[in-house]
Amino acid sequence: MGAESYLSLNNESITQRKLLRYWSLKGEIMEINRPASRGVRRAMRRLFITAVVTVLSAVPVLVGALPTASAATLPTWHFKVTVRMAQSTADLNGGLVFALSKTLTQMDTVNHRFNDPGVLKDKTSFEITTFDTYTDRASDELAKPHPAGDFLLIYDENANTGGGWLGDRQAIVHKWPTLQGGSFAPDATDGLVHEFGHSREATDEYACDVDTNPVNGAGYHESPSIMSYPYGVRNWSAYSVGLINADAGTVNTSSALASRYFPPVMRIRALSSTGSNVSHATVTLYPVKWFSLSVTSTPALSGYTDSSGYYKFSSNPFGPGAATPRNPWDLAYCNFLVKVTSGKRTAYQWMSLPAVGSAYFKNPTGTYTLNVKLP
Ligand SMILES: [Zn+2]
Repeated sequence: MGAESYLSLNNESITQRKLLRYWSLKGEIMEINRPASRGVRRAMRRLFITAVVTVLSAVPVLVGALPTASAATLPTWHFKVTVRMAQSTADLNGGLVFALSKTLTQMDTVNHRFNDPGVLKDKTSFEITTFDTYTDRASDELAKPHPAGDFLLIYDENANTGGGWLGDRQAIVHKWPTLQGGSFAPDATDGLVHEFGHSREATDEYACDVDTNPVNGAGYHESPSIMSYPYGVRNWSAYSVGLINADAGTVNTSSALASRYFPPVMRIRALSSTGSNVSHATVTLYPVKWFSLSVTSTPALSGYTDSSGYYKFSSNPFGPGAATPRNPWDLAYCNFLVKVTSGKRTAYQWMSLPAVGSAYFKNPTGTYTLNVKLP
């Protein structure tokens, strides 16, 4: 069965949202006070829908009489979100009225997490413009187009698909098992903020981490941020900020933004223990594939520092471009273990995508230099 449309907000404004919330709360109170028999629930739903439709149809008249929202100081990137919720998930969350109210509140939180740190160029606004429930499978809903929304957000605590961001569908499956607190638990909300980060082209920064390293045994972990470990974390990394700002108000870009933004020149600089440049040192790059959490023991490339002590990459080692199957964020690798050897001296350094990408956003025309100091 297809989705059953309960409510559709075509011309949403803050005023409408406030009115809708008011009616949601009224509905919750009524629902609490009545037994949840099937007939009553159906009657409650009808009453609720009638109330919402009445309020929305009255809005053009009311808007003029109500104070307008305070003017935002920043321009706003607006995105429409189509929500489809499994009926079973709505039931687990107290019924349609409760579930709708919780969804609107959670989306408010998502918007706050983008805007409150004050690090983005403009204001982000994800607005729920359609809310439906469904009784078929999450995968069926995911396969359907969502022409009215920039993004599709599926709530399903028992989804038959994996959860997360699906770029080719411009969709998020919010699958948070009931036993882990369900769709609206604090961790679930933190996870949802991370998924919306993907909708703005931010990458999975934890995917560059290393636990297994056959070359020198060292591990690597990105600093905590929403895109590296979202739970209880409120900060966006400099790299994510750069990507979100670059994406601005656009949706559905043809190739991942992460594959487009690199310093024009990238190089390795070999240094002696006293800080002087070392010429003719051997440079070897061991790649880390996305999500592999391991260093590949076969080098991606190697060469020598020049007479000035620099090894300049002749092409981008991260491997941007189309591939079949498509690489995550259209990049072959997201991190490298860089080995520099001169005589009997050897040193290692990491060169991660978030580090190189954030250097680009800090200074788009600047040369990126990774210093590797020999012992
Ligand atoms: Zn992710």
